[in-house]
Amino acid sequence: YAAKAGRRGPVVYDEQRHGSGRHRLEAVAQLRRAIDEGELTLHYQPKLRVATGRVEGVEALVRWQHPERGLLFPDAFIELAESAGLMAALTSRVLDTALAQRREWSDRGLELVVSVNVSPSNLVDERFPDEAAGLLARHGVPATALVLEVTESLLMEDRERAVRVLAGLREAGVGVSIDDYGTGYSSLAYLATLPVTELKLDRTFVRTMTGSARSAAIVTSTLQLAHALGLVFVAEGAEDPVTVEALAALGCDVVQGYQLSPPLPPEQLERWLGTRATASVG
Ligand code: C2E
Ligand code: MG
Ligand code: MG
Ligand code: MG
Repeated sequence: YAAKAGRRGPVVYDEQRHGSGRHRLEAVAQLRRAIDEGELTLHYQPKLRVATGRVEGVEALVRWQHPERGLLFPDAFIELAESAGLMAALTSRVLDTALAQRREWSDRGLELVVSVNVSPSNLVDERFPDEAAGLLARHGVPATALVLEVTESLLMEDRERAVRVLAGLREAGVGVSIDDYGTGYSSLAYLATLPVTELKLDRTFVRTMTGSARSAAIVTSTLQLAHALGLVFVAEGAEDPVTVEALAALGCDVVQGYQLSPPLPPEQLERWLGTRATASVG
Protein backbone atom coordinates (compact mmCIF):
# COMPACT_ATOMS: atom_id res chain seq x y z
CA TYR A 1 0.00 0.00 0.00
CA ALA A 2 2.95 2.29 0.55
CA ALA A 3 3.48 2.44 -3.19
CA LYS A 4 -0.20 2.94 -4.01
CA ALA A 5 -0.56 5.35 -6.89
CA GLY A 6 -1.92 8.76 -6.06
CA ARG A 7 -0.62 8.86 -2.51
CA ARG A 8 0.06 12.50 -1.78
CA GLY A 9 2.12 12.19 1.35
CA PRO A 10 3.57 9.80 3.86
CA VAL A 11 1.22 7.51 5.75
CA VAL A 12 0.82 8.11 9.45
CA TYR A 13 1.49 4.50 10.03
CA ASP A 14 2.15 1.64 7.61
CA GLU A 15 0.87 -1.70 8.84
CA GLN A 16 2.86 -3.60 6.23
CA ARG A 17 6.22 -2.02 7.01
CA HIS A 18 6.12 -1.57 10.74
CA GLY A 19 4.01 -4.49 11.92
CA SER A 20 2.77 -3.86 15.42
CA GLY A 21 4.50 -2.16 18.29
CA ARG A 22 5.21 1.18 19.84
CA HIS A 23 5.06 3.15 16.59
CA ARG A 24 1.62 1.79 15.86
CA LEU A 25 0.37 2.48 19.37
CA GLU A 26 1.50 6.08 19.05
CA ALA A 27 -0.17 6.49 15.68
CA VAL A 28 -3.41 5.03 17.03
CA ALA A 29 -3.30 7.33 20.06
CA GLN A 30 -2.75 10.34 17.81
CA LEU A 31 -5.63 9.40 15.58
CA ARG A 32 -7.91 8.80 18.54
CA ARG A 33 -7.02 12.26 19.83
CA ALA A 34 -7.59 13.73 16.38
CA ILE A 35 -11.10 12.26 16.26
CA ASP A 36 -11.98 13.31 19.82
CA GLU A 37 -10.48 16.78 19.74
CA GLY A 38 -11.69 17.97 16.38
CA GLU A 39 -8.51 17.74 14.27
CA LEU A 40 -10.54 16.14 11.49
CA THR A 41 -12.03 18.56 9.00
CA LEU A 42 -14.07 18.10 5.86
CA HIS A 43 -13.53 19.35 2.36
CA TYR A 44 -16.50 19.37 -0.01
CA GLN A 45 -16.44 18.56 -3.71
CA PRO A 46 -19.36 19.72 -5.88
CA LYS A 47 -21.54 17.22 -7.75
CA LEU A 48 -23.02 18.79 -10.88
CA ARG A 49 -26.52 17.76 -12.00
CA VAL A 50 -26.03 17.73 -15.77
CA ALA A 51 -29.70 18.25 -16.76
CA THR A 52 -30.04 21.48 -14.78
CA GLY A 53 -26.43 22.62 -14.92
CA ARG A 54 -26.67 23.14 -11.17
CA VAL A 55 -24.64 21.90 -8.25
CA GLU A 56 -27.24 20.06 -6.20
CA GLY A 57 -24.89 18.19 -3.93
CA VAL A 58 -21.40 17.87 -2.50
CA GLU A 59 -19.26 14.98 -1.32
CA ALA A 60 -17.67 15.40 2.11
CA LEU A 61 -14.07 14.16 2.16
CA VAL A 62 -12.19 13.86 5.44
CA ARG A 63 -8.86 15.59 6.12
CA TRP A 64 -6.68 15.48 9.21
CA GLN A 65 -5.21 18.80 10.24
CA HIS A 66 -2.22 17.25 11.98
CA PRO A 67 -0.49 19.58 14.47
CA GLU A 68 3.02 18.70 13.22
CA ARG A 69 2.54 17.19 9.80
CA GLY A 70 0.04 19.51 8.21
CA LEU A 71 -3.00 18.52 6.22
CA LEU A 72 -3.23 14.76 5.74
CA PHE A 73 -5.41 13.01 3.14
CA PRO A 74 -7.59 9.98 3.92
CA ASP A 75 -5.24 7.44 2.36
CA ALA A 76 -2.77 8.36 5.13
CA PHE A 77 -5.06 7.25 7.98
CA ILE A 78 -8.28 5.50 6.88
CA GLU A 79 -6.70 2.04 6.91
CA LEU A 80 -5.32 2.61 10.37
CA ALA A 81 -8.70 3.82 11.62
CA GLU A 82 -10.28 0.66 10.26
CA SER A 83 -7.69 -1.75 11.66
CA ALA A 84 -7.50 -0.03 15.05
CA GLY A 85 -11.24 -0.13 15.59
CA LEU A 86 -11.61 3.65 15.31
CA MET A 87 -13.84 3.72 12.26
CA ALA A 88 -17.15 3.92 14.11
CA ALA A 89 -15.87 6.98 15.98
CA LEU A 90 -14.42 8.51 12.82
CA THR A 91 -17.64 8.06 10.86
CA SER A 92 -19.71 9.51 13.72
CA ARG A 93 -17.47 12.56 13.77
CA VAL A 94 -17.59 13.00 10.00
CA LEU A 95 -21.38 12.57 9.87
CA ASP A 96 -21.89 14.97 12.75
CA THR A 97 -19.64 17.59 11.13
CA ALA A 98 -21.21 17.18 7.68
CA LEU A 99 -24.76 17.43 9.04
CA ALA A 100 -23.91 20.48 11.16
CA GLN A 101 -22.48 22.07 8.00
CA ARG A 102 -25.55 21.10 5.98
CA ARG A 103 -27.80 22.66 8.63
CA GLU A 104 -25.76 25.85 8.64
CA TRP A 105 -25.94 26.06 4.85
CA SER A 106 -29.70 25.51 4.75
CA ASP A 107 -30.19 28.17 7.42
CA ARG A 108 -28.57 30.51 4.91
CA GLY A 109 -30.71 29.28 2.02
CA LEU A 110 -28.18 26.90 0.51
CA GLU A 111 -29.86 23.52 -0.02
CA LEU A 112 -27.32 20.86 -0.88
CA VAL A 113 -27.45 17.09 -0.68
CA VAL A 114 -24.38 15.97 1.26
CA SER A 115 -22.68 12.65 0.50
CA VAL A 116 -20.61 10.97 3.21
CA ASN A 117 -18.32 7.96 2.76
CA VAL A 118 -18.76 4.98 5.05
CA SER A 119 -16.56 1.96 5.73
CA PRO A 120 -16.99 -1.81 6.08
CA SER A 121 -17.23 -1.67 9.87
CA ASN A 122 -20.15 0.77 9.63
CA LEU A 123 -22.12 -1.63 7.48
CA VAL A 124 -21.77 -4.53 9.86
CA ASP A 125 -22.99 -2.39 12.74
CA GLU A 126 -26.74 -2.89 12.96
CA ARG A 127 -27.10 0.22 15.13
CA PHE A 128 -25.74 2.42 12.36
CA PRO A 129 -29.12 3.31 10.72
CA ASP A 130 -30.47 4.46 14.09
CA GLU A 131 -27.33 6.46 14.73
CA ALA A 132 -27.62 8.17 11.35
CA ALA A 133 -31.33 8.88 11.94
CA GLY A 134 -30.48 10.29 15.38
CA LEU A 135 -27.85 12.64 13.98
CA LEU A 136 -30.22 13.81 11.21
CA ALA A 137 -32.88 14.58 13.82
CA ARG A 138 -30.42 16.34 16.11
CA HIS A 139 -29.30 18.65 13.31
CA GLY A 140 -32.78 19.05 11.86
CA VAL A 141 -31.65 17.81 8.46
CA PRO A 142 -34.09 15.82 6.27
CA ALA A 143 -32.91 12.30 5.46
CA THR A 144 -33.28 13.08 1.76
CA ALA A 145 -30.40 15.57 2.11
CA LEU A 146 -27.98 12.76 3.00
CA VAL A 147 -26.38 10.13 0.77
CA LEU A 148 -24.02 7.51 2.15
CA GLU A 149 -21.36 6.22 -0.23
CA VAL A 150 -20.34 2.60 0.19
CA THR A 151 -17.74 0.74 -1.83
CA GLU A 152 -18.37 -2.50 -3.62
CA SER A 153 -15.73 -4.43 -1.68
CA LEU A 154 -17.45 -3.43 1.49
CA LEU A 155 -20.63 -5.09 0.34
CA MET A 156 -18.90 -8.42 -0.15
CA GLU A 157 -17.77 -8.98 3.42
CA ASP A 158 -20.86 -9.84 5.42
CA ARG A 159 -23.52 -9.57 2.75
CA GLU A 160 -26.59 -10.38 4.78
CA ARG A 161 -25.80 -7.97 7.54
CA ALA A 162 -24.73 -5.26 5.08
CA VAL A 163 -28.04 -5.62 3.23
CA ARG A 164 -29.96 -5.27 6.51
CA VAL A 165 -28.02 -2.12 7.40
CA LEU A 166 -28.56 -0.66 3.92
CA ALA A 167 -32.26 -1.47 4.11
CA GLY A 168 -32.42 0.28 7.48
CA LEU A 169 -30.79 3.37 5.99
CA ARG A 170 -33.20 3.36 3.05
CA GLU A 171 -36.15 2.99 5.41
CA ALA A 172 -34.90 6.05 7.25
CA GLY A 173 -34.95 7.85 3.89
CA VAL A 174 -31.19 8.17 3.45
CA GLY A 175 -29.78 7.73 -0.08
CA VAL A 176 -27.17 5.04 -0.71
CA SER A 177 -24.53 5.21 -3.42
CA ILE A 178 -22.24 2.46 -4.66
CA ASP A 179 -18.86 4.19 -4.85
CA ASP A 180 -15.92 3.31 -7.13
CA TYR A 181 -18.14 0.98 -9.13
CA GLY A 182 -16.22 -1.32 -11.45
CA THR A 183 -13.13 -1.74 -9.29
CA GLY A 184 -14.45 -4.78 -7.42
CA TYR A 185 -15.65 -8.12 -8.63
CA SER A 186 -19.34 -7.99 -7.98
CA SER A 187 -21.68 -7.83 -10.93
CA LEU A 188 -24.13 -5.01 -11.38
CA ALA A 189 -26.79 -7.72 -11.43
CA TYR A 190 -25.89 -8.55 -7.82
CA LEU A 191 -25.54 -4.93 -6.77
CA ALA A 192 -28.94 -4.21 -8.29
CA THR A 193 -30.53 -6.48 -5.71
CA LEU A 194 -29.24 -4.13 -3.00
CA PRO A 195 -31.33 -1.27 -1.68
CA VAL A 196 -29.34 1.55 -3.29
CA THR A 197 -30.21 4.78 -5.11
CA GLU A 198 -27.03 5.80 -6.93
CA LEU A 199 -24.21 4.21 -8.87
CA LYS A 200 -20.90 6.00 -8.99
CA LEU A 201 -18.59 4.74 -11.72
CA ASP A 202 -14.92 4.66 -10.74
CA ARG A 203 -12.69 7.35 -12.16
CA THR A 204 -10.39 4.87 -13.92
CA PHE A 205 -13.08 4.42 -16.60
CA VAL A 206 -14.05 8.08 -16.69
CA ARG A 207 -10.46 9.27 -17.03
CA THR A 208 -9.82 7.10 -20.09
CA MET A 209 -13.22 7.22 -21.81
CA THR A 210 -12.40 9.87 -24.42
CA GLY A 211 -9.23 8.08 -25.55
CA SER A 212 -10.31 4.47 -25.28
CA ALA A 213 -13.23 2.82 -27.05
CA ARG A 214 -13.22 0.09 -24.41
CA SER A 215 -13.59 2.55 -21.54
CA ALA A 216 -16.25 4.43 -23.47
CA ALA A 217 -18.16 1.17 -23.95
CA ILE A 218 -17.98 0.46 -20.22
CA VAL A 219 -19.25 3.93 -19.37
CA THR A 220 -22.11 3.68 -21.88
CA SER A 221 -23.27 0.21 -20.91
CA THR A 222 -23.00 0.84 -17.18
CA LEU A 223 -24.99 4.02 -17.55
CA GLN A 224 -27.73 2.25 -19.51
CA LEU A 225 -27.97 -0.54 -16.98
CA ALA A 226 -27.99 1.89 -14.04
CA HIS A 227 -30.84 3.80 -15.65
CA ALA A 228 -32.75 0.62 -16.46
CA LEU A 229 -32.50 -0.21 -12.75
CA GLY A 230 -33.70 3.23 -11.71
CA LEU A 231 -30.38 4.36 -10.26
CA VAL A 232 -28.86 7.82 -10.52
CA PHE A 233 -25.64 7.53 -12.56
CA VAL A 234 -22.66 9.52 -11.29
CA ALA A 235 -19.27 9.81 -12.99
CA GLU A 236 -16.37 10.65 -10.67
CA GLY A 237 -12.96 11.95 -11.73
CA ALA A 238 -13.91 14.07 -14.76
CA GLU A 239 -10.72 16.04 -15.29
CA ASP A 240 -11.25 17.87 -18.61
CA PRO A 241 -14.02 19.62 -20.55
CA VAL A 242 -14.08 17.02 -23.33
CA THR A 243 -14.89 14.29 -20.80
CA VAL A 244 -17.62 16.39 -19.18
CA GLU A 245 -19.19 17.03 -22.60
CA ALA A 246 -18.97 13.36 -23.56
CA LEU A 247 -20.63 12.36 -20.28
CA ALA A 248 -23.39 14.91 -20.79
CA ALA A 249 -23.97 13.67 -24.34
CA LEU A 250 -24.34 10.10 -23.06
CA GLY A 251 -27.00 11.13 -20.55
CA CYS A 252 -24.91 10.94 -17.37
CA ASP A 253 -26.94 12.36 -14.46
CA VAL A 254 -24.24 13.77 -12.21
CA VAL A 255 -20.60 14.69 -12.82
CA GLN A 256 -17.89 15.18 -10.23
CA GLY A 257 -14.22 15.92 -10.80
CA TYR A 258 -11.35 18.37 -10.94
CA GLN A 259 -12.71 19.88 -14.19
CA LEU A 260 -15.51 21.31 -12.12
CA SER A 261 -13.70 21.75 -8.80
CA PRO A 262 -11.42 19.89 -6.40
CA PRO A 263 -12.68 19.27 -2.86
CA LEU A 264 -12.70 22.63 -1.02
CA PRO A 265 -12.98 23.86 2.57
CA PRO A 266 -16.57 25.06 3.21
CA GLU A 267 -15.87 28.81 2.89
CA GLN A 268 -14.08 28.28 -0.42
CA LEU A 269 -16.89 26.08 -1.69
CA GLU A 270 -19.41 28.81 -0.87
CA ARG A 271 -17.32 31.37 -2.72
CA TRP A 272 -17.00 29.01 -5.68
CA LEU A 273 -20.77 28.44 -5.76
CA GLY A 274 -21.32 32.20 -5.61
CA THR A 275 -19.02 32.84 -8.56
CA ARG A 276 -20.80 30.18 -10.60
CA ALA A 277 -24.25 31.56 -9.84
CA THR A 278 -23.30 35.04 -10.98
CA ALA A 279 -21.23 34.01 -13.98
CA SER A 280 -22.95 34.64 -17.32
CA VAL A 281 -21.53 31.52 -18.93
CA GLY A 282 -20.21 28.17 -17.75
P1 C2E B 1 -13.80 8.48 -3.00
O1 C2E B 1 -14.97 8.42 -2.10
O2 C2E B 1 -13.88 7.74 -4.27
O3 C2E B 1 -13.56 10.03 -3.23
C1 C2E B 1 -13.05 10.58 -4.41
C2 C2E B 1 -11.57 10.86 -4.32
O4 C2E B 1 -11.13 11.25 -5.62
C3 C2E B 1 -11.22 12.02 -3.41
O5 C2E B 1 -9.93 11.78 -2.85
C4 C2E B 1 -11.16 13.19 -4.37
O6 C2E B 1 -10.36 14.25 -3.92
C5 C2E B 1 -10.56 12.53 -5.58
N1 C2E B 1 -10.94 13.23 -6.82
C6 C2E B 1 -12.04 13.97 -7.06
N2 C2E B 1 -12.07 14.43 -8.34
C7 C2E B 1 -10.97 13.94 -8.93
C8 C2E B 1 -10.44 14.06 -10.26
O7 C2E B 1 -11.00 14.70 -11.15
N3 C2E B 1 -9.28 13.41 -10.51
C9 C2E B 1 -8.64 12.67 -9.56
N4 C2E B 1 -7.51 12.07 -9.89
N5 C2E B 1 -9.11 12.54 -8.30
C10 C2E B 1 -10.26 13.17 -7.98
P2 C2E B 1 -9.65 11.85 -1.29
O8 C2E B 1 -10.36 13.02 -0.69
O9 C2E B 1 -8.19 11.74 -1.11
O10 C2E B 1 -10.36 10.57 -0.74
C11 C2E B 1 -9.88 9.30 -1.06
C12 C2E B 1 -10.80 8.23 -0.53
O11 C2E B 1 -10.80 8.19 0.90
C13 C2E B 1 -12.26 8.44 -0.91
O12 C2E B 1 -12.48 7.99 -2.22
C14 C2E B 1 -12.96 7.60 0.14
O13 C2E B 1 -12.99 6.24 -0.24
C15 C2E B 1 -12.04 7.75 1.34
N6 C2E B 1 -12.64 8.73 2.28
C16 C2E B 1 -12.64 10.08 2.19
N7 C2E B 1 -13.29 10.64 3.22
C17 C2E B 1 -13.74 9.60 3.97
C18 C2E B 1 -14.52 9.52 5.19
O14 C2E B 1 -14.97 10.51 5.77
N8 C2E B 1 -14.77 8.26 5.67
C19 C2E B 1 -14.32 7.14 5.03
N9 C2E B 1 -14.63 5.95 5.59
N10 C2E B 1 -13.61 7.18 3.91
C20 C2E B 1 -13.32 8.40 3.38
MG1 MG C 1 -16.90 8.64 -2.24
MG1 MG D 1 -15.35 7.20 -5.46
MG1 MG E 1 -12.35 6.51 -5.44
